[in-house]
Amino acid sequence: MAVPKSKVTRSKRNMRRAHDKLGAAAYIECSNCGELSRPHHVCAACGHYAGREVIAQVEDDFDDEEAA
Ligand SMILES: [Zn+2]
Repeated sequence: MAVPKSKVTRSKRNMRRAHDKLGAAAYIECSNCGELSRPHHVCAACGHYAGREVIAQVEDDFDDEEAA
């Protein structure tokens, strides 16, 4: 098994990790409702993908029951 010859210093370790940060997530406007959603994902707001509804949406009649 390969064994490191010497300790990697905090400086060298941090320099290596300088490129490891995550980029900002990509968002596009939904073509149906205009809400921001991830590309190649079903819209979380309206359930549309590729111009058609793929997840049936339930009417929002539950708000009154939750508030009471
Ligand atoms: Zn949408």
